[in-house]
Amino acid sequence: MNPVIALVGRPNVGKSTLFNRLTRTRDALVADLAGLTRDRKFGAGKVGERDYIVVDTGGISGMEQGLDAKMAEQSFQAMDEADIVLFLVDARAGLTSADKMIAQHLRATEKKTYVVVNKIDGLNPDVATSEFYELGLGELQTIAATHNRGINVLMDHVLNELPPEFQIDEDADEEDESEKGVRISVVGRPNVGKSTLVNRMLGEDRVVVYDHPGTTMDSIEIPYERNEKPYTLIDTAGVRRRKNIKEAAEKFSIVKALQAIQDANVCIVVIDAREGIVEQDLTMLSFVLNSGKGLVIALNKWDGMDIEQKDFVKKELERRLSFVDWADMHFISAKHGTGVGHLYESVDEAYKSAYMNLSTSQLTRILEDAVMDHQPPLVGGRRIKLRYAHQGGMNPPVIVVHGNKTASLPDSYKRYLANTFRKVLNISGTPIRFEFRSGE
Ligand code: GDP
Ligand code: GDP
Repeated sequence: MNPVIALVGRPNVGKSTLFNRLTRTRDALVADLAGLTRDRKFGAGKVGERDYIVVDTGGISGMEQGLDAKMAEQSFQAMDEADIVLFLVDARAGLTSADKMIAQHLRATEKKTYVVVNKIDGLNPDVATSEFYELGLGELQTIAATHNRGINVLMDHVLNELPPEFQIDEDADEEDESEKGVRISVVGRPNVGKSTLVNRMLGEDRVVVYDHPGTTMDSIEIPYERNEKPYTLIDTAGVRRRKNIKEAAEKFSIVKALQAIQDANVCIVVIDAREGIVEQDLTMLSFVLNSGKGLVIALNKWDGMDIEQKDFVKKELERRLSFVDWADMHFISAKHGTGVGHLYESVDEAYKSAYMNLSTSQLTRILEDAVMDHQPPLVGGRRIKLRYAHQGGMNPPVIVVHGNKTASLPDSYKRYLANTFRKVLNISGTPIRFEFRSGE
C-alpha cells in the first residue's frame, strides 16, 4: 500500500505549485467523480522506489459559505483520508486566522502533519518562520516551491518517517511475491458491479482462496489460485467486507481506487453497460492509463439488454474508448457469471505483455525497420536520426529510443513508432511508454 499525502492550506499559499513538483505530471488527474469533487487534484509521484499519492485538497479560507463550505468539507474529508498532511503556509503573507483555523482541525485529527512554510525565497528563514510556531504543530519545514528549493529535504523527512506499514521491505523475497501471482484490482465508479464481480471471481468452482493467518477474507489482499495459477485480488474499498449497511453506505473513495491501481499489475475497469460510457468511467480509465498498469475493460450488466441497446453501446465504445484500443473488452454479467472466466485470459495476456523481456538487438531491429519504411521528418534541413533502442522498464514496458534531435520528433511519428512496436512485439493489454534520448 502506498501512502497518501494531502496538501492543505488556504488559497494562494502554493499548493498547486508544490503539487506539480511532487507529481511531475504534466496534466494532473483532475477527478470529477460523482460530483463529489471540485477543485481537487490527484496525482502519483515517486522518490527512489517509494510510490506515493498526492491530493491537492483545494483551498480553505475558514470563512466559507454555500458551495465554498461544501468544498471546505471535502477538503477536510481528503485530509481525513490521507496518511500524511502537508500544511502549507505563506511566509510572505505571515500567519493568518485561516491558518489557525486549519491548524485547530489538524491538531484534533492527530494526523502526521508537517507545517511547510512556503515562499521563503529572498527572506531570512529564521525571521520568516518564527511566528508559525504558534500553530502548535511542531517543527517547521521551509521551501520555495517555485524555485524548487527545500522540496527534496522535505520529502526525505516525510518518506523516512513513514509509519511501519509503509516501509518498503528491502529483503522482501521476490520469489514470495511472484508466488502470489498477478495482482488484480477491480475498479470503477459506484454501483457498476465491482463487489458482485469480485465475489463472482472468488466464488468460481475452481478457485481456491487461501485463508491462512494474515490473509483472511477480510484483508486488503486476497491471494488465491485458479486452475493452479496464483492470483492476488486487491480489494478496493472493502468490496468483500461490505456485509453490513454501515459499510455499504461508505463513501466512494477516489484515493482508495488510486491506491488499488498503484498496487496492481493489471486493473479490471468495470463499466455499467446499461448506463453507457459516462465521464467518470473515462476518468477511471485515465487513472489506469497514467499509472501504466495493465488494463482489461469489463462491460457489466450485459444480461437482459436487447439487441438495439447492445448495438448502441458497442458503437459508443468504439467511438469513445479508441484511446485504449489496445485493451481487451469483455461483455459480462457479474450477476449471472457470464463471461467472467474469460476475463482471466485477458488478465494473463496483459500481465505477460507488461513483463515481456525485450532485447536491445530485437528492439533496435524493429526501430530500423520502422525507420526504413517511414523516415522521420527533417528539422531545419537535417533529418532526425533514430539509432537504437533498449528496454528501460516493465509494467509498463518502457522503450528507450536513442538518436539525434529526438526532441523535435512530432507526435504523429511517435504514434507511428508506438503502433509499430506494439504490432511487431504483439503487446496487448498494457500501455507502452517511450523515452527519447538525444546524443546532441
Ligand atoms: P494554491 O492556491 O495554494 O494552489 O497556490 P498556487 O500554487 O497557485 O500559488 C499561488 C501564487 O504563489 C502563484 O502566483 C505562485 O507563483 C506563487 N508561489 C508559489 N510558490 C512560491 C514560492 O516558493 N515563492 C514565491 N515567491 N511565490 C510562490
Ligand atoms: P459496486 O458499487 O461497483 O461494488 O456495485 P455492486 O456490486 O454493489 O452492484 C451494484 C448493483 O448492481 C447491485 O444491485 C447488483 O446486484 C447489480 N449488479 C451487479 N452486477 C450485475 C449484473 O451483471 N447484471 C445486473 N442486472 N445487475 C448487476
